[in-house]
Amino acid sequence: MEKSGKVYLVGAGPGDPALLTLKGRRLLQACDAVIYDRLVSEELLDYAKEDCERIFVGKTVGNHALKQEEINQIIIEKALTHPVVVRLKGGDPFVFGRGGEEVLALKEQGISYEVVPGVTSAIAAAAYAGIPVTHRGSSQSFTVITGHTAEEEGNIPDSLTSLAQTSGTLIILMGISNLDRIAEKLLEGGKHPDTPVAVVSNGTTPWQKEVRGSLADICQKVKEAGIKAPAVIIVGSVAGLDMKATIRCPLSGVNIGITGTREIREKLIQQLHELGANTVTAGSLEIIDYSGKPEFDRALMSLEQYHWIVFTSSNAVNLFFQRLAKLGIDHRKLSHIRFAVVGSGTSKILMQYGYHADLVPQQYSAFHLAQELCNIVTAEEKLLIPRAMQGSEELITVLDDNNISYEEIKIYDVVSSYYTPEPGEKQIERLDYLVFASSSGVHGFFQDSDSSTRELLECTKIVCIGEATQRTLSEYGYANTLTAKEASVKGIVECIVENNRNDGIE
Ligand code: SAH
Repeated sequence: MEKSGKVYLVGAGPGDPALLTLKGRRLLQACDAVIYDRLVSEELLDYAKEDCERIFVGKTVGNHALKQEEINQIIIEKALTHPVVVRLKGGDPFVFGRGGEEVLALKEQGISYEVVPGVTSAIAAAAYAGIPVTHRGSSQSFTVITGHTAEEEGNIPDSLTSLAQTSGTLIILMGISNLDRIAEKLLEGGKHPDTPVAVVSNGTTPWQKEVRGSLADICQKVKEAGIKAPAVIIVGSVAGLDMKATIRCPLSGVNIGITGTREIREKLIQQLHELGANTVTAGSLEIIDYSGKPEFDRALMSLEQYHWIVFTSSNAVNLFFQRLAKLGIDHRKLSHIRFAVVGSGTSKILMQYGYHADLVPQQYSAFHLAQELCNIVTAEEKLLIPRAMQGSEELITVLDDNNISYEEIKIYDVVSSYYTPEPGEKQIERLDYLVFASSSGVHGFFQDSDSSTRELLECTKIVCIGEATQRTLSEYGYANTLTAKEASVKGIVECIVENNRNDGIE
């Protein structure tokens, strides 16, 4: 038998990326290939390694969705070539996820596998809408059923009529397109027309919508609200309860689009989620590492010629120290060096390597950094500036104007991609804020985006990290932006909270 890797069928949870299990996250971080569905949050893919192969199998080509057999085949192929494969499935893999079929296909091939359960939308979408699926004195059981079957005539499960007799909660998945017939069958089976019904679509995501009604009027209400799949239908007395949190977080219900490198996105997402915001990845930046170039190695091997090292980004700090370690250079070779950094974020990263910054400008920008350097650097001193390909020219211009001697080495490039949803995939409908943490993020976003994105931005406030980013935004016609007081992730978050608070007062 061929030697193969191991496949983990991982439940991705219902949509909110924070509802992934710790085991799921650990496997995503470790895997060599991830095969994912349409209902899986894109943000989860950020956990995967940069070189992890990402395969989307939720595609609809015309009206043709990938068949289950084709998906099984892809999983098997990947298991034969990759040591660790994650098959990431919406909700729980075994709740109407066809996870069982994938397991059988793997078994047949003798490929080892493991199933990692996930939080199912059946319970989580209800919970986020404030509905407990059981409640003392109200419902003592819940039954999860499909509202769309391939087997039964009319695609409605026959069991619905008998299930109408249950006093417990009925939770129907994949039922929204059959809602009128489902309601009819339940009424035929003897359920009272006043029975409370709730429909929750895109539960636990920024696009969550809910409609409440009764068996008699829910179809009309759902039509009026324009509710679409994916949605869960909850039938029973608990559907009349609302246990949503009463204490509002400062950003609850606020939709925020995030752009930037993985590192920045992760930090922003974590802090914004803690404040109750919904986040969407609207663009990403990838770091291409050129720190292995001979010119940089030569500089690192002759550190004695420099007096200052200047960092204008956390990326530069990380790549600098990683390269030092690769070359086996002892940190004591840095003992005479003074460090200048652009802002508090970069200074914190530098501290992680055990170095205090000797210079952080009063105002966090490359321009102010250059000006303050000119005040203290002497004519005999030389600077080393390892930075990005597209680092701002301002820094160099100020140094040149002041005859400061320096060596600038471009050690990485930033490549941007605008996040384009697959056809049929949920689109961003409304963003309250869109965040840019660098000029390269702005270029990447606007160069790739289309007119529908620009339309979307008409009602969106644009938030940027600092003045340089703000200037780049105005080049694209977005002059009216919110700018963080402090150029850091914390500054961006504070800027949004403050703006949102003021909006609430108006
Ligand atoms: N394994 C998944 C269910 C897959 S079947 C789970 O455990 O959640 C797909 C159906 O799940 C959808 O048609 C819809 O009924 C439901 N669903 C999935 N995600 C949902 C969400 N975020 N909100 C509401 N319903 C959802």
